[in-house]
Amino acid sequence: MTVTAITTTQIDIDSDVLAFLKSLPDEYLVCRDEGHWWERNISGYLREALEGSPHKFVYTKRSRCRHCGNERVKEYGPDFMWLATRYSPPKNYYAKGFKVPSWAVSAYLLSIQGEQQQELNRRVRRSKTA
Ligand SMILES: [Zn+2]
Repeated sequence: MTVTAITTTQIDIDSDVLAFLKSLPDEYLVCRDEGHWWERNISGYLREALEGSPHKFVYTKRSRCRHCGNERVKEYGPDFMWLATRYSPPKNYYAKGFKVPSWAVSAYLLSIQGEQQQELNRRVRRSKTA
């Protein structure tokens, strides 16, 4: 099997979406394309009383993305049934007023590949190995 790198794209990205993607830090682009890199269980399980919860208490477990800093809290009921997952994305991670489809992130990364994308990948790797 021969694998050939794709070097151009004919996919048109909405101009608002494109401007937003160009404004994002490299780490956000990588997370949006490939998903977050969760630091595992940074809190351990905690037992908490949560305001507004129908349960007397819940168990929570916190994680943080090593790339973008997004925080995730998973909540479980007293019986350890999963209840909800809450996220606290970093400022400007999401566009205001419009949705950015995941295919647009991939198409944008495709459009900047080559030396520019290799440099992006190097920067992201370097910034997160410490
Ligand atoms: Zn992330």
